[in-house]
Amino acid sequence: MKKPNQQFRFIRTLLLSSALLIGLLIQSALANDKVQIDIRYQQATSTAEQQQIEQWLQGLVDSVAHALGRFPLDRVQFTVSKTTGAREPIPWAEIKRGRVEGIRFTVDLRHGEKALQTNWTGYHEIAHLMIPYPGYQDIWLSEGLASYYQQMLRIGSGQLSEQQGWQALYNGFVRGSKDNRNDHLSLQRLSPKLHQTRSFMRVYWSGAAFYLELEALLQQQGDAGLLRRIRAYNDCCRYSGMRVSGEQLIKAIAADRDDVKALYRDHQQRRRLNLPIKTLAYFGVTINDGKVSLNKDEEYRMRRQRLYQIESQWE
Ligand SMILES: [Zn+2]
Repeated sequence: MKKPNQQFRFIRTLLLSSALLIGLLIQSALANDKVQIDIRYQQATSTAEQQQIEQWLQGLVDSVAHALGRFPLDRVQFTVSKTTGAREPIPWAEIKRGRVEGIRFTVDLRHGEKALQTNWTGYHEIAHLMIPYPGYQDIWLSEGLASYYQQMLRIGSGQLSEQQGWQALYNGFVRGSKDNRNDHLSLQRLSPKLHQTRSFMRVYWSGAAFYLELEALLQQQGDAGLLRRIRAYNDCCRYSGMRVSGEQLIKAIAADRDDVKALYRDHQQRRRLNLPIKTLAYFGVTINDGKVSLNKDEEYRMRRQRLYQIESQWE
């Protein structure tokens, strides 16, 4: 897999306001692409801490650029708060949509550099920015994308082995399949009630299963895959802060494919997550006693490779 050719220019600005904010602008110039990364620290943050945070955030942006060939936005803004005593390196995060899109993170740096860089939350959040916000009615589509790509981006950027990434995806499907308290509600009806019902596992991992099934459907028809379609959509139609419904998004990324629209409607009506065993097998992923094993034959390896990076980026 080819790493994007990168040069970074760091511009540090110290903004003295009522709350001391250190704004850091990183210009990341990829081969055909520029993305401005703006980092705001909510507390005094030492140079060593800043370096650790910068490297991590740069890695998140790069993982998306690596998958799509370019980061989908010209500018992204991160706000970072520090905490201590959290059980994980990123105890809280929230997407910020608006004129400049970005992410608010709370981090506990005491878990160390490696734990921060491999943690799923960072990749989950950055994956949200791969598409515009589809709104709460279609939250499964957005959370599904983030849950699916939190694994694929980590494999593609080398933070997880393929084995670890697929195991994490499968474990997610298992958690989703066990969350069947609200099986009187279709995914479409459950989505807007997500916070009342707390059916997070079903909604998130049902969405992830949709994307995996979508990839299989596309590849079976000789299509280059979802990353290529997301890239094309972002190149033609994306601007910061835009909002599209799930229906519009699916139409936009698969205008030519009635089978994709049919798959989307089928998933909307599902009342529980059934483990997508057949779809996993299409990608050479089989399960024994809850453990995944990967078929390393070229045919299967290539099918999986298309999920990590668009083909034109391959070496
Ligand atoms: Zn999310």
